[in-house]
Amino acid sequence: MLRFSKHETTFNEITKNMNISIPDRSEYLKTLAQSGQKIMGVLPALYPRELLWAFDIHATEIWDPPGEILHANAHLQTTICPIVKKSLEFILKEPDIINAGYLFPHTCDSLQNLGTQVKDLIGVSLPVYTFYNPKGSFNKMTTKYYRDILQNYQLTLETIYGPLNPEKLLAACVLSHKIDSYLLAIQQARMTDHLAMNNLDYFKLMRAQEYLLPSDYLSLLEQVDILDQPSESPRARLMVSGILPPTSEILRFLDELGVGIVADDLLAGSRRIPKFPMDTPVSPLDYLTDRFFVLPPCSTRGGDLDERLHHLSKLMDASQAQGMLFDMIKFCEPELFDHRLLVKTLREKNIPVLTLETELDSHISGQDKTRIEAFTEILFEMASA
Ligand code: SF4
Repeated sequence: MLRFSKHETTFNEITKNMNISIPDRSEYLKTLAQSGQKIMGVLPALYPRELLWAFDIHATEIWDPPGEILHANAHLQTTICPIVKKSLEFILKEPDIINAGYLFPHTCDSLQNLGTQVKDLIGVSLPVYTFYNPKGSFNKMTTKYYRDILQNYQLTLETIYGPLNPEKLLAACVLSHKIDSYLLAIQQARMTDHLAMNNLDYFKLMRAQEYLLPSDYLSLLEQVDILDQPSESPRARLMVSGILPPTSEILRFLDELGVGIVADDLLAGSRRIPKFPMDTPVSPLDYLTDRFFVLPPCSTRGGDLDERLHHLSKLMDASQAQGMLFDMIKFCEPELFDHRLLVKTLREKNIPVLTLETELDSHISGQDKTRIEAFTEILFEMASA
């Protein structure tokens, strides 16, 4: 696999409190594409990244590409979430950095429909792949189904890229396992104040995995300083739930207020990290299947809401979060489906809850600012009680 060393790229975004540097996404990917790296654009959220890595394909994830939505609306209903709109706008531009096609995992109906549209109606010059993740929990049927779709996807890639080297797949799984181990440790450190990092920097670090080569991302994680002793606790402790982390403006605002997001239930965050450390991979197929089924519960995979509530409650206890922020993407059906009952249950437990709705705009409205301030006042009162 192509190793993209720090000396070859532009690290123009220095993350102050971390004392480590995260490359700018666009420049990083441009340089990578110019070097001849195969790059596939992958839509949210769960896909067998290790399989792509084993074929020397870099998976760069497309969640919320910047830029105005100009052409995508013509192809979509008005009640479609901004992730789908922004992703389609990005795809319609046929960006040079994507040269190995697009992958649409079956995260929700909207993304599944988008995949079909891009493949059959709009048409792009690159291959379009789909990956239909199983819904529901671990059982004989779902595990067999997952193994089958992994093998089918491997066969599809082999028709283009030639036979898979099993050693490369095992190496990719080992790399993925190392990344997961670091992420679990960092997440744990975050919950217990052993990470001197503000909200903005923390989520920049989490989201860098969406575009960095896995080896570069691992190097970055290795540089994160986990403190021996807990640092000063934030004035108030918050957990956030949703698809993406709150926008940079909201994270900055929470930083200014002294509110720390100490735990997350985000699809782009902890819902993609196994609930507990896994054994080092020996058989790739077993490892990939097991890994999928030990991910935390998620609205996009269906399953038992009680299990989700139990998981959230465990995270809140472990992080001593005082309140929950639901940062809801407008028109996100899977999240809306669970939201009402989650809010009701948390309120019954006297846990303060704030729900914001986002269209992924970069600015924060005056109304949202006021609501966040009022909410944090409640948390401050709880902290000082
Ligand atoms: S935000 Fe919700 S509806 Fe939109 S792509 Fe993600 S899961 Fe699907």
